[in-house]
Amino acid sequence: MAERYDTIIIGAGFAGLSAGIRLAQFQKRVLILESHVLPGGLNSYYFRGKGQLYNSGLHTVTNFNARNRRWGFGLICRNLGIDARDFRLAPPKHPSALQTPAGELLFGNDLEILRGSVRDKFPAEIGAFDRFCEDLKKPQDAPTLQRAGSRELLGEYFNDPHLIDLLEMPVYIYGGYREGQIDAATFGTVFRSIFLEGCGSPPDIKHVLDLLIARFKSLGGELKFRRRVARILSEDGRFRGVELADGTQIEAGACLSSAGLAETGLLAGETWGRSGDLSVFETVVAMNRPLDQLGVDRTLLMVSLEPEFHWRAPEGRQEYFHLTLAASDNYAFAEAPSVHHLKIGCFQSGTHWLGLDAETYQHEKNRLEEKMLGELTARFPGLLDEPAAHHESLTPKTVVHYTSHLNGGIYGGSVKSFDGGTPLPGLFVIGNDQAGIGIMGALTSGVIVANYKIILPGQ
Ligand SMILES: Cc1cc2nc3c(=O)[nH]c(=O)nc-3n(C[C@H](O)[C@H](O)[C@H](O)COP(=O)(O)OP(=O)(O)OC[C@H]3O[C@@H](n4cnc5c(N)ncnc54)[C@H](O)[C@@H]3O)c2cc1C
Repeated sequence: MAERYDTIIIGAGFAGLSAGIRLAQFQKRVLILESHVLPGGLNSYYFRGKGQLYNSGLHTVTNFNARNRRWGFGLICRNLGIDARDFRLAPPKHPSALQTPAGELLFGNDLEILRGSVRDKFPAEIGAFDRFCEDLKKPQDAPTLQRAGSRELLGEYFNDPHLIDLLEMPVYIYGGYREGQIDAATFGTVFRSIFLEGCGSPPDIKHVLDLLIARFKSLGGELKFRRRVARILSEDGRFRGVELADGTQIEAGACLSSAGLAETGLLAGETWGRSGDLSVFETVVAMNRPLDQLGVDRTLLMVSLEPEFHWRAPEGRQEYFHLTLAASDNYAFAEAPSVHHLKIGCFQSGTHWLGLDAETYQHEKNRLEEKMLGELTARFPGLLDEPAAHHESLTPKTVVHYTSHLNGGIYGGSVKSFDGGTPLPGLFVIGNDQAGIGIMGALTSGVIVANYKIILPGQ
């Protein structure tokens, strides 16, 4: 007879782990199934050389401020029963910057840094900026905002297109789940998460994943790696269980899937949602000395290279329109970090990369890596003259490998299920495709869908 659980969770990324903890707290029998050998999806880790720990993905963690227990990090900690201090998030040591051909704004965890930059560069817009930030803190009419686009939202406040570009770019870089425009609700959430709540970094992502797994297991939750869900089973029009790649069937009353809406649909033999095409290429350079000693005096740097900001992936062999740089050790950690990683990345079309044959793929990978290293040198001359311990790159193919998101969609599919529902009763989506974008977004999504669909359904 098939084993039976109250809830099966597909994926041990941040959404799956937070949903698992939340359900286990309510004495639900929960099983998390993860196809990989490690948790975290692409925001995971690996070891190189003599056991040196590398974070894959991690640039920064948004929602640094945990004071508001009804929103963001505070809400996550309250719901998971974890003390915010146990995440060991450190604030940035240096400001971050937003650059377009029209100018530069600085920002940091003190909103005054961004406000001062806006006031200096766009004095006529400072009143609008203050109003915008205040309004984002108020309760929002989510369904109305979900139907509107971010340009309409910004257009209600700002007149200067250059300022709109500068404020839009970072939100799209950290949450632009589809080309063109994203919805105003997600835009507002991501803007608030970065600029009003601030950013931080754990010493490494393994620390956070270990913390979540320890909490889940302490509540009796079960987590199995190397278990790929190959099929979702239904009976009488309702979720019944899953079948693993090895043919094992496991039954449950409900299922929360972080595989993505389109991907979950395929597991159920259906066509739901739409996979995202916006993926990423990223080169990580490991230096032997702290980055700020090497002249890297920014924590994050986001660049739009076009005169007008557009959110789109390059087509074919077009190069890139945006760059992101993240300096992993420019945070005020309690202990000096032993790794000094600088990441530089650009957005790419997943379908383009997945369509390349093996030889062209390797050629393109080497070519774009050279370009990324060139962009680094242009911004930090002499940096790469230092003996770099190592550098390597990830491509949209890597994203597919670690997340199973079709086309390597970095923020999931281009259609979101805001309430987590799917057409199959008993089956829900969490994480990226419930609009829970980024690490904190995914953690929040796991909590919210567990609360409103399983623990207190109908509320
Ligand atoms: C290069 C890169 C850098 C990023 N950097 C940051 C950052 O600095 N800060 C930030 O906040 N966010 C960042 N993100 C975004 C962030 O990683 C995601 O938004 C977030 O991790 C999504 O979490 P999730 O749990 O929804 O999904 P995922 O992390 O995608 O987890 C889904 C999990 O489900 C598993 N799975 C899928 N299908 C199956 C199946 N059939 N059976 C079993 N298991 C399955 C996958 O293996 C995976 O572990 C980055 C993303 C990328 C790609």
